[in-house]
Amino acid sequence: MIQLIRGFKDILPGEIEIWQNIEKTARSLFENFGFKEIRLPILERTELFARSIGEDTDIVEKEMYTFPDRKGDLVTLRPEATASVVRSYIQHKMYAKDPVRKFYSIGPMFRRERPQKGRYRQFYQINAEVFGINSPFIDAQLIFLAVKLFHMLEVTDAQPHINSLGCSQCRSNFKKALSAFLLSVTEKLCDACLKRSKKNPLRALDCKNSSCREAMVNAPAITDYLCPECRQHFETVKSALEKLEIPFVIDKNLVRGLDYYTRTTFEIQTGLLGAQNAVAGGGRYDGLVKTLGGQDQPATGFAIGLDRLAEITGIRNKDFTKKPDIYIVALGEKSEPLAFEWNCNFGLEGIRPEMDLSNRSLKSRMKRANKLEAAYVLIVGDNELEEGAVILRNMTTQKQILIPIESLVERVIAEIKA
Ligand code: AMP
Repeated sequence: MIQLIRGFKDILPGEIEIWQNIEKTARSLFENFGFKEIRLPILERTELFARSIGEDTDIVEKEMYTFPDRKGDLVTLRPEATASVVRSYIQHKMYAKDPVRKFYSIGPMFRRERPQKGRYRQFYQINAEVFGINSPFIDAQLIFLAVKLFHMLEVTDAQPHINSLGCSQCRSNFKKALSAFLLSVTEKLCDACLKRSKKNPLRALDCKNSSCREAMVNAPAITDYLCPECRQHFETVKSALEKLEIPFVIDKNLVRGLDYYTRTTFEIQTGLLGAQNAVAGGGRYDGLVKTLGGQDQPATGFAIGLDRLAEITGIRNKDFTKKPDIYIVALGEKSEPLAFEWNCNFGLEGIRPEMDLSNRSLKSRMKRANKLEAAYVLIVGDNELEEGAVILRNMTTQKQILIPIESLVERVIAEIKA
């Protein structure tokens, strides 16, 4: 038997209802705040991700599904959404009419990470991106929206961790200080961090290795290196969150695994997931539109991990199963085509029908109606046809009534809704 690929999963009925409800809630919240849906390809040129996420990040170095297509062009299954949204914003000159654009999207991402609970190779994200706004209030609003979405989905434990990575100027001063610090703790660093210490020291800050983590407790804080504008920007984000009564933690080592972030970065963490404690992450990426060949436009956004959110949402406890309103049993050659027609019409009228198309006995068909927990059963045999009325059985009260065949669909609906 052919099994699915490791790290990939099927989302089956029973589970999918949770996902649909999460998506419905997210869509409605984002639309209220002026975000428009955007749907982009899953396959993009490899170069797009290499240039935006950064050549020496984990994602680009070792996690992307990259392959030559049949003509030999290198293509990649998208590992994240932001790069594609930026590409699309530039390609369609969306800034020309109005540089301020707000998008949301929902879809699969692909990273060849080591699979474990909460970590998949195909996973899903809900993304929100805002272009053309420099103001720190929009950063605060994004964090607010993510937290509120968690609350709406009955996730009680969702805490934003925030940091500011400053602009390129602040970062270059900080990098020097960080490199010097890393050199003073080389004996505690893993091989990857030793390599990073000169080229990309920021990466060492979020290394998962326990010895590196321990060493990083004493690392300098980037927030001490912010220029006056970046410092003010971060102060406003924090005070806006306080006004909105969104509690947050300042995490000086939160740099996130992608190169394009500037100024505000954040992650929403939860204690409900074990090791994979991040349910959302994002931040500002002011330089990215220009890096990818567009106008210089500020931008900011976030991604929520839908798989992880589906695991911890309180709506898991709700029963979303939809049972048939009416189970149709036709017991004769003449009655079957007529019953089939009723069945189709019930569905169109918003009544959930289920027609038994087997040749089994009435008893075994009633058993199946019971198993499916149908509210009513409609029984029609050739005798009933001749007499011009069929049987409608209320499965809760066990009461049966006769319904005339004339305008049957309307009459049954009236009875069910009475
Ligand atoms: P990132 O794009 O790395 O900033 O991740 C944003 C969010 O996506 C994370 O907080 C996770 O909730 C989710 N996520 C990232 N990678 C995975 C993965 N391999 N499996 C499941 N969820 C993931």
